[in-house]
Amino acid sequence: MPRPDSLAAGPGTLLVEVAVPVPLDQFFTYRWTPGGADESPPARGDLVVAPFGRRRRVIGLVVAVRPAGETEVTVGGHDIRPLERVLPPAYRLASDRLRLAEWLAAYYALPLGEVVPLFHPPDPGTRRRASRAPTPAYPLQDGTAEIVLSAAQQAATSAALQQLDDGHFGVVMLHGITGSGKTEVYLQVIGEALARGRGALFLLPEIALTPQTLARIVARFGPVAATVHSGLSSGERCRVHEAAAAGEVRLVVGPRSALFAPVRDLGVIVVDEEHETSYKQEEKPRYHARHAALARGREAGAVVLLGSATPDLESWDNGRRGAYRLFTLTDRPVGVLPDVEVVDLRGEQAPDGFSPRLTEALAAELNEGRQAILYYNRRGFARSLQCAACGRADACPSCDIGLVYHLRPRRLLCHYCGFSRAAPVACSHCGGRDFLPAGGGTERLELSLQATFPGVKVLRLDQDTTRRRGSHARILGAFAGARAQILVGTQMVAKGHHFPGVGLVGVLAADDGLTLPDYRADERAFQLLTQVAGRTGRVRPGLVIFQSWQPDHPIVRLAAHHDYAGFAEAELANRRALGYPPARRLLRIAVASRRAAAAQQGVDELAGVLREGLTGGDREVLGPAPGVFARLQDRHRWQVLIKGTLGSAQKRWLAACAKATEARVGGVEVLIDVDPVGLY
Ligand code: ADP
Ligand code: ZN
Repeated sequence: MPRPDSLAAGPGTLLVEVAVPVPLDQFFTYRWTPGGADESPPARGDLVVAPFGRRRRVIGLVVAVRPAGETEVTVGGHDIRPLERVLPPAYRLASDRLRLAEWLAAYYALPLGEVVPLFHPPDPGTRRRASRAPTPAYPLQDGTAEIVLSAAQQAATSAALQQLDDGHFGVVMLHGITGSGKTEVYLQVIGEALARGRGALFLLPEIALTPQTLARIVARFGPVAATVHSGLSSGERCRVHEAAAAGEVRLVVGPRSALFAPVRDLGVIVVDEEHETSYKQEEKPRYHARHAALARGREAGAVVLLGSATPDLESWDNGRRGAYRLFTLTDRPVGVLPDVEVVDLRGEQAPDGFSPRLTEALAAELNEGRQAILYYNRRGFARSLQCAACGRADACPSCDIGLVYHLRPRRLLCHYCGFSRAAPVACSHCGGRDFLPAGGGTERLELSLQATFPGVKVLRLDQDTTRRRGSHARILGAFAGARAQILVGTQMVAKGHHFPGVGLVGVLAADDGLTLPDYRADERAFQLLTQVAGRTGRVRPGLVIFQSWQPDHPIVRLAAHHDYAGFAEAELANRRALGYPPARRLLRIAVASRRAAAAQQGVDELAGVLREGLTGGDREVLGPAPGVFARLQDRHRWQVLIKGTLGSAQKRWLAACAKATEARVGGVEVLIDVDPVGLY
């Protein structure tokens, strides 16, 4: 359709301020001229397609609109360009979503425009043929009709419904081991909310790892429920978005990105496994979906349900202080908690990582016709391929990290940048021709199991076996359908599956991860051990074996006793003593450059500026210090930590300082990470 492009502003011409997804802390002015028959004038909250730069088109958010003066055709000496089009009303950011966008920008020190892509599908308005969602290869075990809530489930449900009926924001926290009936509470509350005409969001940490929960929700609520995730086609994502905006879809389920769906009259937001780090988006725009869910709940007047067997310490702290209503589900409606045996690896012969006790327990389970899960948190065949003569092993040329030995195909791999090369014939240091695979890996465990238990079907679940689309579901489905007896894998095996046939869980190295130089290392290790232990005992008493080099380590002991409260109390005391979250807030500034000197100069300058500018309050600027991984992907890495509370004005100032450093020191990238979940 032709557009009047003359330089005089005609009657009805509007000037439109647009937040555009670029890393600049400003809005851009466009003009809109009446004429297009299909277009009503843009208003605050609308999404628009606008030209940007020479040949880019971007999707931006309208923040303000005013009539154009008759001669007002330039801004700062530039012609004001026309908007290309206004997206249909289904894509408008109304009330709670608009305020959420503003909160995200302020809290995470981002230009408003940079959070806009979270709020729409990649190609809004596309109407390609909708793809069919893959049917999960799962036996559904949800009987549903017969469920009578336990007293604890009933109490939690009533509290959430009370909150819903009060009509303002509140948080209900469910602490309960896997299988204690949390999901049932979420579903009850959602059912009641839908019956009252309210909408709901259900966040899951990783969609590929939770096909059962997904199938259960969809089975319960039918077509008013829809899932969104990155595996859907653009057309399908648009369809769900538009159906939610129209009120046809009233429950949206998915990973963190589902939080932004335009569900109407939002009454409930569920954040399942709320402690999971996958709720943190580590690329731009960085945000934490749990925190953002609380913000959206506040803006929408909705009740937020957080649930976990091992709550994030911040959530737990809020629960014990009464800021959240905390409910503990202690019993499993079905099955009991497994016994945990700790096997001391010191002085023990453990060929290929298997102690005699674990091998014996495995043999017993297999004899009984039951299944087993084995967990080891490293993929590949061996941690390194060591020269038998000089003992050295090769590191990645771009990262200061050792290469991992893989057998199929036989290569050395960097697990950080993906660098790979053929396994060497001769040692690059001494020319030696004999090599020893040192340390374990899931591939080695799989081969070792096949040798020990010939005829037993072993499946492996790790990044290497799940590269192809749908392979997760295939592996999990085969195991759930008892077409294999042993599932071995990385932390992927620890996530929310229900496998009634599993009688044994083996953790090959329970103290793995306890030595990471990160204040959250213990929390992460405790969570993983608890989660993986929860994979058994669903139907009959199960057995868990932790193999450990430090059997007396408090984390190993507390996890073996399923003692979350004991863990939380000890860890909170540590955090208070050291001034780490949740006692104090944390903000990480990472500086990286291909040139070592530039990285150092950049971080020194920036740290100096921050020290001067952020005095007062409870704030403290720590560092600069080299990153835990001092060089990754050819980038030298440094960081500065800020402890204490920063207001949005200070964060904005911080972002400006970061930009100034990038401008002053060539080839330096500065990244601001508010509430980091890891310090590497
Ligand atoms: P979680 O979410 O804590 O892992 P679920 O809600 O999935 O626990 O419950 C575990 C199993 O117990 C599921 O099969 C569920 O259908 C069943 N279940 C939950 N609550 C009850 C109940 N009150 N009575 C009978 N079965 C229940
Ligand atoms: Zn590398």
